[in-house]
Amino acid sequence: MAIVSIIAIDGPAASGKSTLGFRLAEALGYLYFDTGLMYRAVTWLVLDRHIAITNQAAVTLLAEEIPIDVSPPSLADGRACDVVVDHRDITWEIRKPEIEINVSMVSAYPGVREALTLQQRRIGLRGRVVMVGRDIGTIVLPDADIKIYLDASAEERAHRRHQEITARGGKVNYEDILAKVIERDRIDSTRVVAPLKPAQDAVIIDSDHLDADTVFEKVFDLCKS
Ligand code: C5P
Repeated sequence: MAIVSIIAIDGPAASGKSTLGFRLAEALGYLYFDTGLMYRAVTWLVLDRHIAITNQAAVTLLAEEIPIDVSPPSLADGRACDVVVDHRDITWEIRKPEIEINVSMVSAYPGVREALTLQQRRIGLRGRVVMVGRDIGTIVLPDADIKIYLDASAEERAHRRHQEITARGGKVNYEDILAKVIERDRIDSTRVVAPLKPAQDAVIIDSDHLDADTVFEKVFDLCKS
């Protein structure tokens, strides 16, 4: 089987990138790397240290100086990996609503992007990797062998996220999720540096009417061909 070495998956919030990326990496025996968790980890650190999210210089300094340790999962609690910062396991902390509200502002800062992009590129260029984010095909790994842009309507994405949370026993309001997804996309796609958009040579998949298995099969076939 002819196999590619670097697979970039980009797309808006809750489009199913992580599910696709994780499955693909598993099927290929590649490293799965979710770049969103790095932006989330910096945001967590900023809030934990009571730094104002608007203080660009201080936020950038943190992104430059604090190591974000990502390693294979140590617990079978549904996590794809362990995320450790400051000797604290923040794997689930970074999924909380207060992180989602603030992360797009943090990730719009050019210095934060520069610091994290360098680390992501170093990991990606080792090859045999499925890297997931917003700017992987455009900025982080522009020479990736395969670029996927996974899209879906905001309503569909909010609906899936709502189902996911309620299935875990959480209580959330659909309209609330929808508003937050739309706002995060707005900030991510209008920022000056590395905005969310498909690379020119990306394969765009609209998953509104496709289930996760079908999306996976489509991309897996692309990897094999
Ligand atoms: O993918 P996830 O929802 O975990 O990403 C969280 C946030 O991190 C995004 O909304 C975006 O602001 C930022 N991000 C980014 N560039 C990436 C990955 C994530 O700006 N490559």
